Amino acid sequence: MASSLNKRDHCEVAIIGGGPAGSLSAIHLARAGFKVVLFEKSVGPTERVCGEFLSHEALPLLREVGLDPVALGAKEITGFHLHGPTQTATMRLPHRAVGLSRTLLDEELLRIADKAGVDVRRGVRVADILEGLDDVGGSILLSTTVGETRASRVIVATGKSDFRALNERVGRDHSFVGFKMHVRLKPSAASRIGSSCDLFVFDGGYGGLTPVGDGVFDLCFLVDKKTLRGLATDWDSMTAWIGRSNWTASHLLDGAKPLSKNFTSIGVLPYGFLRRDLAPSGVFFVGDQMAVIPSLTGEGMTIALMTARRAVSAMIEDVGDERRLRFAPESAREYQRSVRAGLRQQVDAALALHALFKSPRLVDMTIYALRAFPALFEKAYRSTRCHLLETSPTKRLGARLTSWPKRARSAQIASN
Ligand SMILES: Cc1cc2nc3c(=O)[nH]c(=O)nc-3n(C[C@H](O)[C@H](O)[C@H](O)COP(=O)(O)OP(=O)(O)OC[C@H]3O[C@@H](n4cnc5c(N)ncnc54)[C@H](O)[C@@H]3O)c2cc1C
Repeated sequence: MASSLNKRDHCEVAIIGGGPAGSLSAIHLARAGFKVVLFEKSVGPTERVCGEFLSHEALPLLREVGLDPVALGAKEITGFHLHGPTQTATMRLPHRAVGLSRTLLDEELLRIADKAGVDVRRGVRVADILEGLDDVGGSILLSTTVGETRASRVIVATGKSDFRALNERVGRDHSFVGFKMHVRLKPSAASRIGSSCDLFVFDGGYGGLTPVGDGVFDLCFLVDKKTLRGLATDWDSMTAWIGRSNWTASHLLDGAKPLSKNFTSIGVLPYGFLRRDLAPSGVFFVGDQMAVIPSLTGEGMTIALMTARRAVSAMIEDVGDERRLRFAPESAREYQRSVRAGLRQQVDAALALHALFKSPRLVDMTIYALRAFPALFEKAYRSTRCHLLETSPTKRLGARLTSWPKRARSAQIASN
């Protein structure tokens, strides 16, 4: 991957952040023939707080760019167990999903971006946007830890923190802290979960176990900030706390081996955030920078991939057999408006489920209801799936992105 930099250089599209949203945007733009630079502040593989559940809807978007999750070691997930304090429900997922380590996923997407011709700059942090586009176009000036870069368009894909960090108060619920660790479960616990994903509630939070390797599970959970004040955050204290109010979780975690020394954690979780501020001309926000859905849906990565795909479609246009950057001001704002409208229902449904999970007793009651009316689960699951690409007026353009023959292109920029 490229690492050397001019003091100031120019590209057609600069992408800030190399998570799923940034990498996917970069791959599509590079394959469409644009000169793309991607800045990623981490120098190498990094642990992310994530349940690592990749929903069915995300899989075609990954396969489309040549990433086969199963070849990468993903574990198939066909079922779902919900553990209340005293009750358990077992359900089938309407569609197969997979569990895949984020480190593997993120690194593979960056590798594919590099191969597609993206200038991937690891260990470079973007500090600020110094100048935006003016009325007649021009370019956007970015300052980075190694110099300045000019770009005709910018995609902000920095997740929840750091560049354009989300103030937690922009969310409709920001009362939780997230934790994650890979664990090796005892064989009896691993086979009890099988090819399911388990969700459990406990006093002051809820969490999940997702299979991501042979006998290896992603343990990811949320604890509300008030409860956390009285808790130590080491493995023994956390698992003891979870097990105290959820017998099944205690059983599943009994004898489990933590695979790292400490939990990875995140304190800024603005659940329900849907970006509504006026996008600066030529700047597109994707992934968590656009929307943050409660984690229990396992739909955050799908939203990251779909918003990336939509932003790319909104950014470029075909003129004859030329492909060029659309004139900026309206395209970024229109993209943002339509994504917000396209995600509102899912985010609302997810917030309602998240609220339910704050009460362990309500979850037990829900389990009784699910046993009586199993169709309720499918309804709830489907209500939180992201369909941005199905409903998008830019879907056809998105489809053309992949069918566009790779060929030399005179890079014309509409706004210049
Ligand atoms: C507790 C929890 C559980 C979750 N579980 C799931 C789940 O099971 N399934 C699911 O689909 N989603 C889940 N999510 C959501 C999912 O993790 C996110 O939605 C997804 O990672 C968003 O992708 P992104 O590309 O927008 O941002 P990120 O994945 O956060 O990537 C941002 C990238 O930008 C880089 N960066 C940041 N600032 C800069 C800068 N200034 N310069 C250069 N680079 C920068 C970072 O290093 C990082 O690589 C969960 C989230 C949480 C908190």
